[in-house]
Amino acid sequence: MLDRKYIVENADAVRENCIRRGVDCDVAQLVQWEQQRLAKLQEAQELNRQANEVSKQIGKAKDNDERQQFISKGRELREAKDAAQKEHDSLDAQILDIQRLIPNLTHADAPTGGEDDAKELGFGKTPVPSFDFTPLDHLELGEKHDLFDFEAGARVAGAGFYFLKNDAVRLDLALQQFAVSMLSERGFTPVSTPDLALTEILHGTGFNPRGPETQIYTIENTELNLVATAEITLGGMMAGQTFDATELPLKLCGLSHCFRTEAGAAGRASKGLYRVHQFSKVEMFAFTSPEDSDAIHEQMRQIECDLFDALEVPYRVVDTASGDLGGPAYRKYDLEAWMPGRGDGGQWGEVTSTSNCTDYQARRLDVRFKTAGQKGTQFVHTLNGTAVATGRAMIAILENHQTADGSITVPKVLQPWMGKEKIG
Ligand code: AMP
Repeated sequence: MLDRKYIVENADAVRENCIRRGVDCDVAQLVQWEQQRLAKLQEAQELNRQANEVSKQIGKAKDNDERQQFISKGRELREAKDAAQKEHDSLDAQILDIQRLIPNLTHADAPTGGEDDAKELGFGKTPVPSFDFTPLDHLELGEKHDLFDFEAGARVAGAGFYFLKNDAVRLDLALQQFAVSMLSERGFTPVSTPDLALTEILHGTGFNPRGPETQIYTIENTELNLVATAEITLGGMMAGQTFDATELPLKLCGLSHCFRTEAGAAGRASKGLYRVHQFSKVEMFAFTSPEDSDAIHEQMRQIECDLFDALEVPYRVVDTASGDLGGPAYRKYDLEAWMPGRGDGGQWGEVTSTSNCTDYQARRLDVRFKTAGQKGTQFVHTLNGTAVATGRAMIAILENHQTADGSITVPKVLQPWMGKEKIG
């Protein structure tokens, strides 16, 4: 969430940023309501001051009549103060509704445009494979090696759910083990997070449950929601905390399941594991000082590259365009892996995403830091990045590593965790 004072003082720039990011927000209405709210606040404070003055007079009244007059005057003033306060609170809530929809500012170097305007920044170490046989897609490979059961998934939980079986289970776990071990070596503390979070934590991290087109499953008659990503729980883990500057950066890697309704995704290429309602993910998260956040963002991007280079998966890195950044990200890089079974003859498909959210999440979550010798506190910056989302990583591994005899070579780094060199 952006600072309210900042929005009021920079309304034109904020409005232009909303347009650049394709977000429809009534910034002018927020500014108008904020002026009214401040006036109401002053009115309530003045009425309170007058009521206190009158209370002091009660003890000094010269007779009972005057005492009664002061008492009723005091009551009138307090009622007027309560009414002003109520109006203030309702304006405050309305302003918050708009404020929450206003996206973060955008890095000057981020490309402008939508999904197709992402800028290609480079490629990984593994070349796109050229097969001397007709490659299968991951569903055909899954059938050959008995790896998935989508029909049973649909019977049990509906379309878009699935069972992993046999070596798919081992591969899913191996990917998580490998990612956690690599991140531990790079200073990330592993945590296993809850799969549910309170609505206020979702709001704090910039997710909007219960709205139209929400990606979030909510639990009826509770404040609980299934998490779409461990970014929500890892951000929420430090809500309300003030760090000492020396404790930053704090780097966590979280394991969770991710649940997504995928509302509005109908018709988008989504064969098999590509766009499902539940998957496992190892997520990086960092709390940093404002000075460090760009550098840590580059580190997260490099870790994602190192991870997919180690998995011997061909990929490209893209700088996400403004209209595709979502609310909280100031800048976002995606890795797109080559998926030979996607589309007609192969396509790039997003496998990771890393975002610098600056202080957008920290303001709402109230996560701060203090520096010795300096007055007051500042909001931290938060960053997140996919280490591995196992479903899409599995697609890339199965489809790129298939061989002419129908078996699949297990990437070297996963062999110790899988306990085998090939599937099939
Ligand atoms: P996001 O948190 O939306 O940036 O997504 C992080 C990663 O999760 C993506 O890069 C994908 O690898 C994966 N992912 C996102 N949505 C889905 C989905 N519906 N099904 C499978 N994987 C997904």
